[in-house]
Amino acid sequence: MRNLFVPDYMFADIYKITPEFIKSLGVRALVLDIDNTLVTYAVAEPTPEVIAWVRGMQESGLSLSIASNNHGPRVEKFNEKLGLYIMCESGKPSRKAVRNACAHFGVKPQEVAVIGDQIFTDVLCASRAGAVAILVTPIPYNENLFFRFKRVCEKPFIRAYRKREEKKLKAQDKSKENSK
Ligand SMILES: [Mg+2]
Repeated sequence: MRNLFVPDYMFADIYKITPEFIKSLGVRALVLDIDNTLVTYAVAEPTPEVIAWVRGMQESGLSLSIASNNHGPRVEKFNEKLGLYIMCESGKPSRKAVRNACAHFGVKPQEVAVIGDQIFTDVLCASRAGAVAILVTPIPYNENLFFRFKRVCEKPFIRAYRKREEKKLKAQDKSKENSK
């Protein structure tokens, strides 16, 4: 059974995630977290790199949206140059963000991938909604005690992800050997 806290995929940062990879999953729409995923809390606007990454995804035909638990003014300011469909104070891990994206883009939950840096909000939102959960390593930022505590609590699930991936690789190696 799916462990709701274990991401489907993990990447070091968003730039390692390509449109080809997303499409290979059958995904048609992305729900993006902002803080510590696209930029840190301290950065009000998307960097040129973020804009280029977003445009690359759009040019390949994917629909992009932002779901942030942060407040309206932060999200709206960030989105000025991007012009994406936004969900402010999205209440992740509520499924609402994925449901809204599905309604807005006319896609099914399994055709949505949530990309974020937190297990207890982004990953849980995706897995509860039946969407693909993609975890990125948080952009380093001076996090407060509460966040640091959350990071410690995330560790067992990241270990579970790594274990599962190792198992998958081993199984692949075995089937390769058997087919020789
Ligand atoms: Mg975040």
